[in-house]
Amino acid sequence: EYFDKIKKEDKDIQAFVTLCEEEALEQAKKLDEKLSKGEDLGLLGGIPVAIKDNICTKDIKTTCASKMLEDFIPPYDATIVKRLKESGAIIIGKTNMDEFAMGSSTENSAIQTTKNPWDLNKVPGGSSGGSAAAVAAGFAPLTIGSDTGGSIRQPASFCGVVGLKPTYGLVSRFGLIAFASSFDQIGPFAKTVKDCAISLQAIQGNDPFDATSVRCEVEKDYLSYFERGVKGLKIGVPKEFFMNGLDSQINQSVQQSIEYLKKQGAMVEEFSFPISQVGLSAYYIISSAEASSNLARYDGVRYGYRTKNYESIDDLIINTRREAFGEEVKRRIMLGTYVLSSGYYDAYYKKALFLRKKISQEFKNAFKDYDVILTPTCPVLPFNIGEKVDSPLSMYLSDIYTVNVNIAGLPAISIPCGLSEQNLPIGLQLIGDHYTEGKLFQVAYNLE
Ligand code: GLN
Repeated sequence: EYFDKIKKEDKDIQAFVTLCEEEALEQAKKLDEKLSKGEDLGLLGGIPVAIKDNICTKDIKTTCASKMLEDFIPPYDATIVKRLKESGAIIIGKTNMDEFAMGSSTENSAIQTTKNPWDLNKVPGGSSGGSAAAVAAGFAPLTIGSDTGGSIRQPASFCGVVGLKPTYGLVSRFGLIAFASSFDQIGPFAKTVKDCAISLQAIQGNDPFDATSVRCEVEKDYLSYFERGVKGLKIGVPKEFFMNGLDSQINQSVQQSIEYLKKQGAMVEEFSFPISQVGLSAYYIISSAEASSNLARYDGVRYGYRTKNYESIDDLIINTRREAFGEEVKRRIMLGTYVLSSGYYDAYYKKALFLRKKISQEFKNAFKDYDVILTPTCPVLPFNIGEKVDSPLSMYLSDIYTVNVNIAGLPAISIPCGLSEQNLPIGLQLIGDHYTEGKLFQVAYNLE
């Protein structure tokens, strides 16, 4: 059923870059046999799942939406893919994204431009735009994305679905193609908060293949949070997230949700979080620095694209990278190399690291007073395709409410909170302290 729908409707939306119909039907048959024997199918038994194309899938092309990896077929599954399969999920395909997850609109894909299912002239957000659009269009009940600075939450907001960025380390990054390793985190998209919670349960937990993955006990029963209500919970609203630049319709919708939470018995309070305003600058410095180092591996020698045009090894590397990386990726590599070079390291990179520490401390302080922090997910409504492609800075600004969360490694969820006059989705973000995903679900469920 899902494949029929995708084949009919994805021509217009272009959420998928690869479909794995044969493998999926085979897997479904196996599950069917298990079912007829009365065996347990697992937490996600029989659920069709689509995966962002920067997550390695064994024997299935994983392109990162880049010419550099257009023919790359990983010899192994990412841990998350392994865990999805172990819990009975069926992988139906790979979804489009901004090249190497750099972008906020999915227009930086070297393969195709995904459209927003709510309005085909609008972007679906990014970088996990394909995964968000696939859920919104009804192509899959569950999809997986990655979030380095907002790439799950912002497209979830633009496409009117739920998107969760878990605590850094809660979900293994093994097999996720690295962008900025100290920020990158994998998480789910779904139509409901409950679906996100169930899938988190299936994919989370320590992984010996990822040295940054969680070592402490993790919550095993997120569903127990759902019926608790919000009475007595303290919710902080940082006033800096509601100042100039915020679309008035988004503001209005978020205020309505705040009123609703108050009526349900939550204690909602405004507070000041001024350091959050430098988060965007710190994010783009640190993430580009890490990207410039991570992307050094694409040299045309070991795997991926190789230029035909070379006489020396230097030529080989230079021409490979010149021909196969897109504009935005090159911009990040140059920016990252610049802020790491001698003379600029102290002025930019070190300063950004200092701010990173400050931001994390300020969040810790805020969580002494509040259970959850509530903000809009994005300051603007889904914009037109092409509108921001020539203006990287205005594209970067759409991440202003999401990046601080990655800087501090916190969990955050974006949930739909109404529609604009133009019938475009609006998203609300809830941020929690490390490993308090349960509380996020508790509040988010009440707002659904
Ligand atoms: N839009 C942000 C960027 O371009 C975030 C990307 C992401 O989270 N992968 O860096």
